[in-house]
Amino acid sequence: MKKFLFCLLACIPAAADPSTWDTSRARPLGAWKPAIAEYSRRHYGEPQWQLQPKCIVLHYTAGREFPWNLVNSADFAGESPGLASHFVVDGARIYQLLPPEVRSRSAYGINHRAINIEMVGADAQDLMARGKGTMDTAAGLVADLMARYKIPLQEIYSHQQVALMDTDEVPWVLDRINPEPYHKIDPGVEPMRYILSRVRQHQ
Ligand SMILES: [Zn+2]
Repeated sequence: MKKFLFCLLACIPAAADPSTWDTSRARPLGAWKPAIAEYSRRHYGEPQWQLQPKCIVLHYTAGREFPWNLVNSADFAGESPGLASHFVVDGARIYQLLPPEVRSRSAYGINHRAINIEMVGADAQDLMARGKGTMDTAAGLVADLMARYKIPLQEIYSHQQVALMDTDEVPWVLDRINPEPYHKIDPGVEPMRYILSRVRQHQ
């Protein structure tokens, strides 16, 4: 029985400790804030960089290496700023590219309400094949952010759900320039199911 209890506790991923978040690849905020405020004005009618997180959106990076475009890009599709999520999770490592109180540009239609987390992986299969280390780390990070910002479990979404641009699926979705649905499958049904099951173990 003791052994069983030990295993049960040991198998639950620890909530992420912010002091271990790696900020060495963070976006310089001096340039980011005015650019994302302008993006936010255009797309959401809110000329501000400040974020009050209401939900968390999970992604895979669609690549096997660290996604430097989320750190270095100056624009995307001809529009400033570049792409950047709040966090990139790679194995046991958590990179914080932007503070959760600052808007990111990672999921069209939800950047005004979401904390965006990218997991390094080529696709759902690759993520599942990485020994679940990246997903366990992401689950710990999600649990920490849920507690910190009082975000309930039903406000954890996949990019795929956001891309439907359907307020029945994700109540916050909005875009003033193009409100149409778009195609995204990240991070995949299986990774999403696995991460949510791990997050539930923290509650
Ligand atoms: Zn995505």
